[in-house]
Amino acid sequence: MRVILRSPEGEVVTRDVIDGRWTEPEGDAETVIGEGAWALPGLVDAHSHIARERLDYLSGDLAGAEERARESLRSGVMLLLDKGWLDDTAIQVARRVPEEERPDIEAAARIIANEGGYMKDVALEVGEGTFDEAIRDQARRGDGWVKLVGDWPRKGLGAVANFTEDQLRRAVEIAAEEGARVAIHTMARDVPSMAVRAGVHSIEHGLFLTAEDVEALAARGGMWVPTILRVEHTIAQLGTESTGGRLLAEGLENVRRLLGLASEAGAHVLAGTDLVGTPTNVASEALKLIEYGLPAAEAVRAVSSSGLAATGRATDFAPGSPANAVLFPSNPYDEPDVLKHPTAVIRLGRLV
Ligand SMILES: [Zn+2]
Repeated sequence: MRVILRSPEGEVVTRDVIDGRWTEPEGDAETVIGEGAWALPGLVDAHSHIARERLDYLSGDLAGAEERARESLRSGVMLLLDKGWLDDTAIQVARRVPEEERPDIEAAARIIANEGGYMKDVALEVGEGTFDEAIRDQARRGDGWVKLVGDWPRKGLGAVANFTEDQLRRAVEIAAEEGARVAIHTMARDVPSMAVRAGVHSIEHGLFLTAEDVEALAARGGMWVPTILRVEHTIAQLGTESTGGRLLAEGLENVRRLLGLASEAGAHVLAGTDLVGTPTNVASEALKLIEYGLPAAEAVRAVSSSGLAATGRATDFAPGSPANAVLFPSNPYDEPDVLKHPTAVIRLGRLV
């Protein structure tokens, strides 16, 4: 099979496929696909919970999760970063569904909080005495990620930090020993700065990051997944006039100010669905990022190459890299809406 693609920068790339990887074209090809179609190396949902179809905090449904993984691939998603659940459904999906039938999946196992620091019975609740061991254990159970809940509202106190900066630093160290990265849920003040200083790899929501934080994140290739659709949803649920709703709305205004700065600085701003729809909805989050001020080309990168690069994957159809591509009828940099309507998906050298 020969594939002729055009990157959003306008570069035309011709490749053959051998054993699921791109190679330099050689001789004549029987089938030619693409003929210069606009292409990305794949969409990325950088904050998914494939275990469930909605945020209902119930045990994962494995059959549904397998189908969601397959459907994600059909919509052009080539990588899911699953940010944990109350069980290991996402990890099971990666074991059970062949990789040519689903996106790559990197996943945290159980979400970690402290006592009362997340939805009851959802997180693994740890204390100072059990923290290190829990991080190591979940890093071993997961596929590349450990997920912490950094802050959570407590009755009468507003949002409270669940962990100390020293604990976050230890989490990063222990996870690294097990080959895993750390992601932290944070919607409150102060905690994102603490997490950035501690070396946490991915800031989830991160509504109160500062300019200093995004520069520090950028300097070390860190990720920020604002999940704007999820935050807007939560505001609607809480009520715009509630204390929580007002705090989150203030956070979104901060996101609006920081997005451009973060991407200019070189931080990996990424698109994540966080169960506002399934990963197939990730193009909508990219459009949200544009609505919040990210230039279109940056938003396209936020939902494709940036997530691939941040996790050490190829982004440029280079010979030797996995033969993955999502084809579009026009240049997504000019018409980001086409992200929702790929014309073809090539996964490991096969037409999906
Ligand atoms: Zn989430």
